[in-house]
Amino acid sequence: LDPTNDNFSPDEFDVEKKLRPLSFDDFTGQDQVLENLQIFVQAANLRTEALDHTLFHGPPGLGKTTLANILANELGVGIKITSGPVLDKPGDLAGLLTNLEERDVLFIDEIHRLSPIVEEYLYSAMEDFKIDIMIESGPNARTVQIHLNAFTLVGATTRSGLLTSPMRARFGIQSRLQYYNTDLLTTIIQRSANILGVPISMEAAIEIAGRSRGTPRIANALLRRVRDFAQIKGNGSIDIKIAKYALEALNVDAHGLDDMDNKILATIIDKFKGGPVGITTIATAVSESPETIEEVYEPFLIQQGFIMRTPRGREVTEEAYKHLGRVKGPTQGG
Ligand code: ADP
Repeated sequence: LDPTNDNFSPDEFDVEKKLRPLSFDDFTGQDQVLENLQIFVQAANLRTEALDHTLFHGPPGLGKTTLANILANELGVGIKITSGPVLDKPGDLAGLLTNLEERDVLFIDEIHRLSPIVEEYLYSAMEDFKIDIMIESGPNARTVQIHLNAFTLVGATTRSGLLTSPMRARFGIQSRLQYYNTDLLTTIIQRSANILGVPISMEAAIEIAGRSRGTPRIANALLRRVRDFAQIKGNGSIDIKIAKYALEALNVDAHGLDDMDNKILATIIDKFKGGPVGITTIATAVSESPETIEEVYEPFLIQQGFIMRTPRGREVTEEAYKHLGRVKGPTQGG
């Protein structure tokens, strides 16, 4: 089971879609972000203007794609969805842009992975709603400028540090999504169970929520797996007993940490005596990029109290030793 990735079977993809909130009212958590967005959307609707370009950043599975879709719904417009790595050349982008209706949303996931040439092409589209396109070829080749309908670009990135500053500057609205606490995840799990038509006890929902790494996508994935156990090994409804049994069988970490989280903690403890150690050194040791460690893994480990940032680098806490069942050795130099 790897609930952090998106490789669902077609059936699971349908379920995933069913569980997606469609309106502001349906969306749980991220209160501050939501409050602001609601105001901006209302204002844009009042003026019948396109919403300002909007950037969502934060770790995977927290609701960036969901919010892009909600924005389109609440604006009452269409949405086209693509992602940074898919847009190879400016032509790919031109096709999408010229097909946007007035006020539509263009959602670009992983926007930090746009190629520089596509990114540059996007600038004038975002700023003036104009693009240059090349027509004909050979000796007759020339560029013509065409006007686009006013649209809203919604960008999502897990790695805001990799976004160029000219790109970032073109987003009038920028929101950072936070990890969800157990209460919020419990609400999300109850909502999802309701949509799936599976009865779940409060206690069981809390148990699953606590192991979901602060992430709705993981909460939903675990719920679906626990539901399988409930249907095959139980009576179809999810109580605390079946939830615990299933989570045990699925080998889900007590805090919902994934393999990389645990690898990072184990590395700091085993190779660097618990730290302090620099982020680049950790990254090399676990074969990940420092940016990914810093933007995807570390925030959760800090939030859960497993890692501390100190002026001399990252240090693991007592909690991390306990979690991995390690014994803390004598500290160096007191
Ligand atoms: P991201 O784009 O940030 O990786 P998604 O928007 O794809 O994350 O969210 C992953 C899944 O988690 C969605 O399919 C949705 O069902 C669920 N989800 C995310 N945020 C929420 C939320 N606030 N309330 C309920 N479900 C959510």
